[in-house]
Amino acid sequence: MSTLKGKTAIITGSTSGIGLGLAQAFAKNGVNIIINGFGKKDDIETECKAIEKLGVKCLYHAADMTKPAEIADLIETAKNTFGGADILINNAGIQHVSPIEDFPPEKWDAIIAINMSASFHTIRGALPQMKKKGWGRIINIASAHGLVASPYKSAYVTAKHGILGLTKTVALECAEDGVTVNAICPGYVKTPLVDNQIADTAKSRGISEKEVINEVILKAQWTKKFVTVEQIAGLALFLCSDAAANITGAHQSIDGGWTAA
Ligand code: NAD
Repeated sequence: MSTLKGKTAIITGSTSGIGLGLAQAFAKNGVNIIINGFGKKDDIETECKAIEKLGVKCLYHAADMTKPAEIADLIETAKNTFGGADILINNAGIQHVSPIEDFPPEKWDAIIAINMSASFHTIRGALPQMKKKGWGRIINIASAHGLVASPYKSAYVTAKHGILGLTKTVALECAEDGVTVNAICPGYVKTPLVDNQIADTAKSRGISEKEVINEVILKAQWTKKFVTVEQIAGLALFLCSDAAANITGAHQSIDGGWTAA
């Protein structure tokens, strides 16, 4: 595995959950990090300091992934501070669980914007710099829901299927430029996003939270174990290695066998 030391990664939605774990794992491999996402100022400062303790630079950018102008500023900041992002991980995401008849249109719009359209905006901004350098890695954090559906998640499933289409298309467009574009499709990971979903699913299905974990979530996951943030980080680091230079336009499932069934 060639060293990633000295490279720079933008990781959207990295103030929590999978994104934060990715930021820590890439920092441990010598990658400067631009973190992004919402949260309390003090918590974000503490996260940034912990990343810097690993011997890299860490910068926080507050771009709201529903706002293309703020995303453009995030990309511009990466260019001005680090000469552009070598690695872009589109990870920011939200969820809303509800039957389609009751699905609030504003939640639909927000999920499509954050979970799908934001990646169009980050990629179109970051790609020219990667092409110029002749090296780049774009990883879109999709989901098992990019491949299969579950009821009550119309916007999320739509956005995650869409992101796989974007992954394939951009991969072809930059295939000869040293830039790979791939998607990671995790099953369930125990993060704040899933914790909220457990509560919402319990409500919409009229069952207890324990029943949601055992009969909905871990039922789909044949290993009967949540995927861990560290396992996703290991896969993302592999996709950034030389060994993965010919993997592009692909999705990598990490879902405990969910989509094999
Ligand atoms: P999380 O809720 O822990 O983290 C989401 C991050 O996105 C946070 O940092 C939040 O501040 C940020 N965010 C939300 N709205 C934003 C906006 N408008 N602009 C910028 N940042 C915003 O969730 P997570 O579970 O770590 O999810 C991360 C990604 O992984 C998402 O794309 C999610 O769909 C995907 N995923 C999660 C699971 C899972 O089981 N947790 C499974 C498959 C895929």
